[in-house]
Amino acid sequence: VPPALTYDELPRALDALRSAENIVIACHINPDGDTIGSMVALALGLEQLGKRPTLLSSDGIPQTLTFLPGLARIQTETDARNFDLAVVVDAGEMARVGKSRAAVESAPVLLDIDHHVTPGPFGTINLLDARAAATGEIIYDVLTHLGVTFTPEIAQCLLCALLTDTGSFRYMNVTPRTMALAGALIEQGGSPTEIAEEVFEKRTYAMQKLLGRAMESLQRTPDGRIVWAHVTQADFDEFGATDADTEGIVGAVRAVRDAEVALFFREMASGKLRVSLRAHDPHDVASVAQLFGGGGHRLAAGCTLNGPLADAERVLVNAVQDALYRENHIRVFGEPPTVNHRWMAS
Ligand code: 5GP
Ligand code: MN
Repeated sequence: VPPALTYDELPRALDALRSAENIVIACHINPDGDTIGSMVALALGLEQLGKRPTLLSSDGIPQTLTFLPGLARIQTETDARNFDLAVVVDAGEMARVGKSRAAVESAPVLLDIDHHVTPGPFGTINLLDARAAATGEIIYDVLTHLGVTFTPEIAQCLLCALLTDTGSFRYMNVTPRTMALAGALIEQGGSPTEIAEEVFEKRTYAMQKLLGRAMESLQRTPDGRIVWAHVTQADFDEFGATDADTEGIVGAVRAVRDAEVALFFREMASGKLRVSLRAHDPHDVASVAQLFGGGGHRLAAGCTLNGPLADAERVLVNAVQDALYRENHIRVFGEPPTVNHRWMAS
């Protein structure tokens, strides 16, 4: 598939990649299939060109992705500061590289590759395209321009990026190009079966128990347009679970009939609440997440709020209602809320 996406800064990005030798590549915290797949595929391609990539994942590798090739290259931190170039993939914002930040910022040039466009470019060079279903689509173009051979390992990493960020090719971000790339990646040795089995069919006991707790907590506004659920620290403790074990829960919340916006709250050890927001078209939850210092895409976003849980739920549900109201939909639940920024986590 020939590169189709266009980036103003592509020539500069390719120059930077071609001229660098020691390259640090960082993915985002709570890493997913797109950020890990993109990072490893890029590294494998750069190795073909004789580069020395250092791969950083601040939060390591989630159990569900341990089947991917090339992961032995990934470390959680490094003391090295001899980098000519830093590349950040799929992060949304600089803060989301976690403890990789010092290594990334030590490089003279920062290349930001992402399909998130909020809150804006933070690289010296930026390859940003919100039309890409996954950052992996942009990596595909970069590797094509660099003349890299698509090995089965690279294909599997990029196919994983595409498959996971599109909810198995079901979300609105899927384009004909996404499917064409997936087809090419299968031809090049990627296996959608392996990815689907490893990522979706090997859920741990703790994951299923947490899903149960979340479904038990399910609530909705009287009009049914906003649906939300939570898991508490007590739930995490009881099952020896971590945040990674909440994978897939927000999808179950969003799957409720008539839900237009779905929210999933999880209580962290600090008492703050991590929130996943999901919208059905045409709504926009990124703008709501941004009110609370978060961000993401129109249909999938995240933010962090101060506790306690019940207050955070009330504040965010109100903010979502306010957003729906401003979209000129009929308001049937309560008075227009004022967003109280006291609830913003710092
Ligand atoms: P999730 O709910 O899966 O954690 O995140 C959904 C989307 O929102 C992802 O694309 C993620 O990158 C983005 N996102 C989640 N949390 C944050 C955040 O705190 N800040 C920003 N900028 N984006 C976030
Ligand atoms: Mn992504």
